[in-house]
Amino acid sequence: MITQITEQEKISKTVLKGLTLKELKEFFEAAGEKRYRGEQVFEWMYGHLIDNFDQMENIPKYLRKKLNSFCELITLKLHSVEESKITGTRKYIFETKDNFKIESVIIPEAKRTTLCISTQVGCPLDCKFCATGLMGYKRNLTTGEIFDQFLLASKDYKLSQITNIVYMGMGEPLLNFNNTLKSLKIFSEEKTRGISLKKITVSTAGIPHKIIELADSQIGVKIAFSLHSLFDETRSKIMPINKKYNLSSNLEAIRYYVNKTKTRVTFEYVMFNDLNDREDDFHALVKLCKSLPCKVNVIPFNSIAHMFPTGISKELKPSPKQRIEEFVQKLRDKGITVTVRFTQGDDIAAACGQLAYKFENN
Ligand code: SAH
Repeated sequence: MITQITEQEKISKTVLKGLTLKELKEFFEAAGEKRYRGEQVFEWMYGHLIDNFDQMENIPKYLRKKLNSFCELITLKLHSVEESKITGTRKYIFETKDNFKIESVIIPEAKRTTLCISTQVGCPLDCKFCATGLMGYKRNLTTGEIFDQFLLASKDYKLSQITNIVYMGMGEPLLNFNNTLKSLKIFSEEKTRGISLKKITVSTAGIPHKIIELADSQIGVKIAFSLHSLFDETRSKIMPINKKYNLSSNLEAIRYYVNKTKTRVTFEYVMFNDLNDREDDFHALVKLCKSLPCKVNVIPFNSIAHMFPTGISKELKPSPKQRIEEFVQKLRDKGITVTVRFTQGDDIAAACGQLAYKFENN
């Protein structure tokens, strides 16, 4: 009997991780406590990365007891870590309370250390070149689960070493709009540990009305758009979402975004042999880049052979290294800012688009 009650309590506990500052103040007020308790708990959770009420020193004992009984803080558990011997890239596998596995990756570079986080379990978009797309979709991550990837990875790595965050792991952030936005609001607060919004980039395959909503939210984060081709026919072949939201509707939304936020957009461009690495692709890309503030992130196509792809996914091949180099040089000659994201963590399947976890337990 007693066990049953405990189980029941567990189920009904309110998860505080993921609440914004405003929500926390409201939560404490509704519970008959002072609003400033919300600020204090906010600072412990997101500033000091504490996930135990008993360590929250300025919270009185009676309240800590109450919080222990009715609330909880932890949303994810670290399942395993793998490190690339070649690049030092670390891949984290986290487990959710309902036993899904999600992944985050830390990418150390000369001048920065970037954490790549997930926003969904799997992804519904089915991009033909992406391992996550091939694994299917289960559910959105909660705001707490989005934040806890940062918390657990930075605790494991070296606190304060993570300088940048990219929302480029599993899932489409703009299809989990509310939780993504709430997580950005949490990162934007002064009391939150470490990262300023200027160092955060949200990557999208292109959901135009959500790009506009993000612009109107005034959060001002940087966005990256997975462009990959300037031609609808080609883009639709490798990214089915393009049939619903084509290039012109996305580019219109992106123009709105950069105007409104005064940021520049990053165009991600994965290079596929003979598919998007030709002269006409180059000229169309230059024309686009000359028309708005942007930079281009060229990404060599990372193998997804570990997913045993079929159909078009199997046919896709990376552009030869030399062609990538020429393409990049020609863009630079036109005065376009280009970065090349050379494969990071390929040996542990932690490179772009390689994140996937079979739903073994579900
Ligand atoms: N859904 C979001 C974010 C996740 S993917 C988006 O589409 O932008 C992050 C980036 O990795 C995207 O630009 C995506 O197109 C790219 N990517 C996916 N699979 C890849 C692969 N196999 N090789 C290289 N880049 C890949």
